[in-house]
Amino acid sequence: MAPGSEGVMMINRINHVAIVVEDLDAALRFWRDALGLPLSKTEENPGEHVDIAFLPLGESEIELLEPTDPDSGIGKYLAKKGQGMHHLCVEVDDIDAVIARLTGHGVEMINETPRVRDEGTRYAFVHPKSAGGVLVELYELPE
Ligand code: ZN
Repeated sequence: MAPGSEGVMMINRINHVAIVVEDLDAALRFWRDALGLPLSKTEENPGEHVDIAFLPLGESEIELLEPTDPDSGIGKYLAKKGQGMHHLCVEVDDIDAVIARLTGHGVEMINETPRVRDEGTRYAFVHPKSAGGVLVELYELPE
């Protein structure tokens, strides 16, 4: 096997790009009204202290995140860094195998053990200091 070719089948697509915004309605004036992306749904996520707007784009989605609590992690992020790209989410077949592969390459994880969302999606974040300053989220969708 050629170097770097192991695990080629493990990564499927960009699931979503998440952007932190001060105000969903204001952000939608660009993403939906001016750029013309469809808005598939909006969702309140009190557990993660965000309201989210989902805008499908090809096989992926743009997620606009408006923090609802200034003291939450994402609320503090907005206060410190301002609006902008928050993270990139990569969809994988087997999140445990991908985490093992990454840590084997010396990559630091924020979540070494995947967390689980309500609908069964398993996810984990890679530390941005191991990814050139980009916060990378891994998603393993339920069967
Ligand atoms: Zn995400």
